Amino acid sequence: MPGKINGARVEKLTIQDASRRLNISQRDIREYIRSGELKAERDPGSEHGRWLVLMPEDGWQDKFKTFLDKLDASITRWWWANKSKTGSVHYLENTGIENVEPGYLCGRRSENLWSSAGHAAADRCLECLMRATELGLPLFEEEVSGS
Ligand SMILES: [Zn+2]
Repeated sequence: MPGKINGARVEKLTIQDASRRLNISQRDIREYIRSGELKAERDPGSEHGRWLVLMPEDGWQDKFKTFLDKLDASITRWWWANKSKTGSVHYLENTGIENVEPGYLCGRRSENLWSSAGHAAADRCLECLMRATELGLPLFEEEVSGS
């Protein structure tokens, strides 16, 4: 029988209910279960072995927010503006992927983004670099390969 264990009661909700309670999508809930950010267990009373989310303590959403902010900050803003990856990598000003035309700090536009993973510091657009430094934006030095 489910119930209280020494007064430490953990609320268990279906993914659907947890999604409503925490105000994040069911897809995100599953993602956080996979990553271990949320705890979950199989419902022993369910034929299909559905998941029950062990509801985190009240402070979780704040922690979650911090997690998201960190995740956001870890995503590079440097991108190649052309497919052949020539010229400079530019700093993406607006992170909204919905934006039809990516806008870079230097004012340049490009039709698409190409990953700058492994680019060298010398590949960076000087104008973008200066703007980013001015604005105190993270430069993601750790992503630059080589010296
Ligand atoms: Zn630029």
